[in-house]
Amino acid sequence: MNARIFSGILLLILCCGISFSGCFWQSVLPPKLDLNKSECGRCRMSILESRYIAAIDGPILFDDIGCMLFALEDHKESPAHIWVCDYQKNIWLDARTAAYVYAPMLGTPMNSGYVALSDSIAAVNLASYVHGVAYASWDELVLSFRLRTIEFIANRLRVYF
Ligand SMILES: [Zn+2]
Repeated sequence: MNARIFSGILLLILCCGISFSGCFWQSVLPPKLDLNKSECGRCRMSILESRYIAAIDGPILFDDIGCMLFALEDHKESPAHIWVCDYQKNIWLDARTAAYVYAPMLGTPMNSGYVALSDSIAAVNLASYVHGVAYASWDELVLSFRLRTIEFIANRLRVYF
């Protein structure tokens, strides 16, 4: 094989590698948010504030972390990527490594009371300021959400019986 053909093949392999890595990288990026056009993937309300939003695989956006958690309960398989917006820094975070705060006074769009932060220290500080509860992990958030949902349903049943 002469050097010219070899360098051509090498260039082709490099281009394919860059192209595939570009596709892979794009597939793990969170969706872009257009506050004028975006609506929640669960409640269909317009998304008005980015600091409360969440997203799962593809372009599915949610106006409130609570809406995203309800949608995940309906999901048969766990999504590959889940994002939440940092409440204080307004940047996307990997939901599975973020910390969370629950406090009704946070005034989230659908009143779930959940917001995300980049680390547990920020979560503890915010929780103490808003008289809320800090969760250091995704698993704690999901457990909290399920318990609050069961409590909500039980309280509704008490009204009727
Ligand atoms: Zn919603």
